[in-house]
Amino acid sequence: MNFHETSQDRAAKPALPSLVGATRKELAALLARHGVPEREIRMRVGQLWHWLYFQGATHFDPMLNVGKPLRAELAAHYSLARPEVVAEQISQDGTRKWLLRFAPVNANDKGAEIECVYIPESDRGTLCISSQVGCTLTCSFCHTGTQKLVRNLTAAEIVGQIVVARERLGDFPGLTPPEGGLLPRGDSRLITNVVFMGMGEPLFNFENVRDSVGVLADGDGLSVSKRRITVSTAGVVPQIERLGAEAGSMLAISLHAICDELRDKLVPLNKKYPLKELLAACRAYPGASNARRITFEYVMLKGVNDSPAEARELVRLLKSIPAKINLIPFNPWPGTKYECSDWEKIEAFSEIVFNAGYASPVRTPRGRDILAACGQLKSATEKMRARARMMAEG
Ligand code: SAH
Repeated sequence: MNFHETSQDRAAKPALPSLVGATRKELAALLARHGVPEREIRMRVGQLWHWLYFQGATHFDPMLNVGKPLRAELAAHYSLARPEVVAEQISQDGTRKWLLRFAPVNANDKGAEIECVYIPESDRGTLCISSQVGCTLTCSFCHTGTQKLVRNLTAAEIVGQIVVARERLGDFPGLTPPEGGLLPRGDSRLITNVVFMGMGEPLFNFENVRDSVGVLADGDGLSVSKRRITVSTAGVVPQIERLGAEAGSMLAISLHAICDELRDKLVPLNKKYPLKELLAACRAYPGASNARRITFEYVMLKGVNDSPAEARELVRLLKSIPAKINLIPFNPWPGTKYECSDWEKIEAFSEIVFNAGYASPVRTPRGRDILAACGQLKSATEKMRARARMMAEG
């Protein structure tokens, strides 16, 4: 395990607003404000876009095609700052976790902090990002649920997470990887998939999540295909249709229980939007098909939801939905009343699901040594920082 705070990462806060994370619409509006003639705006946005999101530029100087006067004008008013990397941890299994701090949004804001995790696998690299600082959901098995909601992230802050991650991994073609960064493999990028499975409920921050998906998926920039962007929700039913129609991402549902009585306890949002309504919204999800399946996440809690009868009921419930089932071993955290199901129980559950025709991968916990697994984000890091500080101070 590797835990450090780099001095470079602790650099002074940017005084100028950053362009990193901006949408095309925002860039067009600001160029107009700075006097770029209407007929040039599209072209200029395209150029900036390429530098921001394809090259990962950290300075305006290399943007030669943007023209010297405009470059100078932009540099006088904007920065290309990313969220600040407060800490970077690298797990023995290659998982990386970053604690990121955003520039303060007002005088009372000390700079919100979130975590973001990169999980390399043989055929893909997945970045798990956050949509809110904290969460309002209070799911009883989730550590993030014990923290209060601080605020929604802006679209730019959501996009900023992948820009930082690509920079730290050496995943931009124009940038030299930082020390410890990995080298890009030929033309393919290290981050191929993005999941909104970090902190927060993405569908409680709909517009910003939708806009960030637009930036992530743009083929001239970050180029993460919409089929490889998954938004995970605890079940905010009224926003599910909109997600498909306006963002066009893949959908994941944190199901975790097959009856309302239990789901009310595990995912209290179920009291507002019960299973029947949730599954109806899934059936109607725009763009779902056998090639674009909805993922159902099911956390394995010992003696709570892990019986063979529940596995059979799960299969029955999902019958008319193009679905994938993702069994997640519960990741314990200090003070939780739950335990992870025994391995035999998980295997038996998985077999029932598999025999019903679902590939049912059990999600191997990754990055456990750096507390990067689902539901463990943020608070754990804060404890580790306190410990690291204590050790540094002797
Ligand atoms: N709010 C969204 C996304 C964040 S949680 C949602 O509910 O889907 C991402 C996934 O991790 C969810 O399926 C969540 O239920 C699961 N999760 C939360 N805490 C967990 C824990 N301690 N162990 C395993 N999975 C957990």
